Amino acid sequence: MNLSIKIFIALVLAAVVGVAAGPEGLPFIKWWIAPIGTIFINLIKMMIVPVVFTSLVVGMTSLGDTKTLGRIGIKTVLIYLVTTAVAIVIGFGVASFGHPGTGIQLAADATVTVKEAPSVMQVLVNMVPTNPVQSMAKAEILPVIMFAIFIGYGIIEVGGKKAELLMVVFDAAAEVCYKIIAAIMKVSPIGVFALLLPVVAANGPKVLLPLISVIACMAVGSIIHVVGVYSTIASVGAHISPAKFFRGMAEAMLIAFSTCSSAGTLPVNMKNLQEKLGCSREVTSFVLPLGATINMDGTALYMGVCSLFIANVFGVDLSVQQMLMIVFTGTLASIGTAGVPGAGLIMLAMVLQSVGLPIEGLALVAGIDRVLDMFRTCLNITGDAAVALAIDRTEHHKVVA
Ligand code: ASP
Repeated sequence: MNLSIKIFIALVLAAVVGVAAGPEGLPFIKWWIAPIGTIFINLIKMMIVPVVFTSLVVGMTSLGDTKTLGRIGIKTVLIYLVTTAVAIVIGFGVASFGHPGTGIQLAADATVTVKEAPSVMQVLVNMVPTNPVQSMAKAEILPVIMFAIFIGYGIIEVGGKKAELLMVVFDAAAEVCYKIIAAIMKVSPIGVFALLLPVVAANGPKVLLPLISVIACMAVGSIIHVVGVYSTIASVGAHISPAKFFRGMAEAMLIAFSTCSSAGTLPVNMKNLQEKLGCSREVTSFVLPLGATINMDGTALYMGVCSLFIANVFGVDLSVQQMLMIVFTGTLASIGTAGVPGAGLIMLAMVLQSVGLPIEGLALVAGIDRVLDMFRTCLNITGDAAVALAIDRTEHHKVVA
């Protein structure tokens, strides 16, 4: 049986068992089942730094020269920015129709402690590692990407026999990483089941019902973005049929849905994009890690939906200027969002602050954030892959389908 079907079955099974078990079953599930999910996540996390570092160096060096690299880099970042801004606008659009939050009363004692969101300049400063080994140890992806880019640049500049030797070593190391990831993926249905079961048991229908309008807006917005934007990028940009694109993406999308981590899904996404969708290794290795870190369409869409939701709950009418401000800060906030579960909620604080919406609104969203995170992470990684395919097409002018 195909792996994505197995993962899907695990997902459905987790939903059924989770609802049946309910909050009463939670202690048992947390004690016996959740750790298996944690082991699975740990296995994937174990591979993030090795695969990002080795394959990024391979990607850089096989692009050959710094001019090509600059060209691809600029194209990638521009498309990423546009798709992100479109996502927020879709979020607004859906939320204006769905009116999530109208009629909801905020519980008087609802408070949530949120870590302070970093400023834009701080995000830029943090990108440059002072000690690359420390960044690797802490799995800070952006500084690791920076360092890999410098190493790649250095190898290209050295050239000749020495460079060739290093390239062979990095290439072999990346190959080893892919093999390990493939082995981890074989047990992913068990991992997915163990990850989702506690979420469903804890967030049963009772918790979800009052906030169902937000979840529905997020789901509808995600579908519109996936079908509208990604199908277009796949067919027009990458000359690949949307059906083939989504079939190729299914495994990674399901893993994103259940792990809520773009960084965690990156190894799977990289493997699938090359093996199932024929994206070149150079482009995959460069565009995807970058996307997993800075391109968060799902998180951006969530900023749009949630800021309107919170405005509705507190009876605030957002002006057009405020909405434009949300598009602007939302795009920046999504760039600064780490590809880990729950990161978007912290960055939402930055967006709310920028237009003076009450931060207390986060308390409402926090309760269902895990569910919203499933949608946004799924979108986040699909966007990276669609853009990578389109860039690959413009670079290699080959029909992938
Ligand atoms: N969990 C998301 C991701 O990893 C980030 C977020 O919380 O929005 O892509």
